[in-house]
Amino acid sequence: MQPRTLELNTWSSEKKCRAVVAALTKKHFTAVYCATAQEAADYILKQAETAQSVGFGGSLSVADLKITSGLAAQGKEILNHGFPDLTPEQRVAIMKRQQTCDLFLSGTNAVTLDGCLVNIDGNGNRVAAMIYGPSKVIVVAGRNKIVEGDLADAIKRIKDKSAPPNAMRLGKQTPCASTGFCSDCDAPQRICHITTIIDSKPTLTDFHVLVVNEDMGL
Ligand code: SF4
Repeated sequence: MQPRTLELNTWSSEKKCRAVVAALTKKHFTAVYCATAQEAADYILKQAETAQSVGFGGSLSVADLKITSGLAAQGKEILNHGFPDLTPEQRVAIMKRQQTCDLFLSGTNAVTLDGCLVNIDGNGNRVAAMIYGPSKVIVVAGRNKIVEGDLADAIKRIKDKSAPPNAMRLGKQTPCASTGFCSDCDAPQRICHITTIIDSKPTLTDFHVLVVNEDMGL
């Protein structure tokens, strides 16, 4: 991309990111604009200082921040069910522990301009921990997750751009994992069982949303 085009695109997406931050703030989230993914990583490491246990919801946006080693160096208990070589029983045990961890980290499948976080899950462990349980939740939302429309548009974004490549990434036997398109399947390994809309800050959770002016995750 030419430098001037890049500059204009960055300017435009910053305006949208800041509009989302304003909408989230109005809904009592701690919403923060981050110009870069590195700013988001630094923010999380700072917020994690008082946490003993840190849960990872399985988000590519969070994985791309590469903060696990920094958190481990701080002596945190890392609760990541995506670590390789875990047995199914170990994975489930970690997902249950995530529900009561001190700090839970997640991406979001979509965030609307008026500040709703919209997600679709297969197991529900990720969305459950976003809503209630952990003392603090930090959601990382790249600019590509912003939806300029209503909740139906947010769900459409997830079914168009997020769920099929995630199904493929996770090795699921679903139609979308081979075609790239959602066919609203009834496959046993369907990853779209639960749809959540976090409309404003859950009462008992210290809830932060980092809106990042970079594309992050799916
Ligand atoms: S409903 Fe089925 S086909 Fe559609 S995105 Fe979800 S898993 Fe894929």
